[in-house]
Amino acid sequence: MSTGSDTDVMVDIRDVHKSFGPLHVLKGVDLTVRTGEVTVVLGPSGSGKSTLLRTVNHLEKVDRGLISVDGDLIGYRRSGDRLRELPEREVLRQRTRIGFVFQDFHLFPHLTVLENITEAPVSALKRPRREAVDTARRLLERVGLADRAGAFPRQLSGGQQQRVAIARALALEPRLLLFDEPTSALDPELVGEVLDVIGDLARQGTTMIVVTHETGFAREVADTVVFMDDGRIVEQGPPGDVLDRPRHERTRAFLSRVL
Ligand code: ADP
Ligand code: MG
Repeated sequence: MSTGSDTDVMVDIRDVHKSFGPLHVLKGVDLTVRTGEVTVVLGPSGSGKSTLLRTVNHLEKVDRGLISVDGDLIGYRRSGDRLRELPEREVLRQRTRIGFVFQDFHLFPHLTVLENITEAPVSALKRPRREAVDTARRLLERVGLADRAGAFPRQLSGGQQQRVAIARALALEPRLLLFDEPTSALDPELVGEVLDVIGDLARQGTTMIVVTHETGFAREVADTVVFMDDGRIVEQGPPGDVLDRPRHERTRAFLSRVL
C-alpha cells in the first residue's frame, strides 16, 4: 500500500463511505491535504462535513475506503474485505495527535481555563504538571488570553471560550487541526477574534481542515477550498477558482446563498 510514502501528504482520504442505518452520508469522498496547508470545507447543512471530520479523528468508523493521517492508517475496507480495526490504544494514540475544535467549544465547565488546557497533556500524555502549565501559559499568550488563566468557562465570552478551546487543542502538539464550524455559535462581533487566531496558526504552517461558511476567511487563508454536497466533494481548488469561478451549478447556488 502506498499510503504514507509521500511525506508531503498529511491527510489522504480515498473513496470513503459512511452510512447511518439507511442514510448514506458519505458517498465516496476523496481528499488530500498536504502538510502545512489549510483546506476549507464549505457545503450546505447535512452534506456530510461534520461526519467527514469525525472519521478523520476516529469519532466515526468508515464503512469503506481509506484514511491515513501522517502515514497512520485509520481504517479501510475494499469491497469484500473486512474492515481493519485498530486496537483501542492505537486509536487513542492517533487521536491525541489530532486537534479537534467544535462549534460549541466543549470546554470542561468545572475546570479553570488553565486546567482545561493542562488536563489532557497531564492525564493522557503523562506530561509533568509544571511543564504542562508552562505550555498552557504560553498558549494562552498566543491566543490573547494570558490574563484569564484562572477564570471558569462561564465567565468568558463565546469568542474567549473558543480561543481557550484552540489553546487546549494546541497543547497536544497536534500534527493536524480540525475545526468544525468554529465560529457558528458566536455573536457576529466575536467571530473576527477567533478567525484571527486560526489565521495566525495557518500562517505559522499548521496543517488544518476548517469547516466554515466564512468565505472571507476562506479567501484569505485557504490553500484549497472544497465544496461538499450530498455526501460528495463536488468541486475543489484554490479559493479564487471555487469562490469566484465555480464550475458547478450546485456550488454557484450555495455561494449565492452565503455570500
Ligand atoms: P453537515 O456537517 O454537513 O451539516 P453531518 O455530517 O452532520 O452534515 O450530517 C450528514 C447527515 O448525516 C445528516 O442527515 C445527519 O442528520 C446525519 N447524521 C450525522 N450523524 C449521525 C448519527 N450519528 N446518526 C444518524 N444520522 C447522523
Ligand atoms: Mg456539521
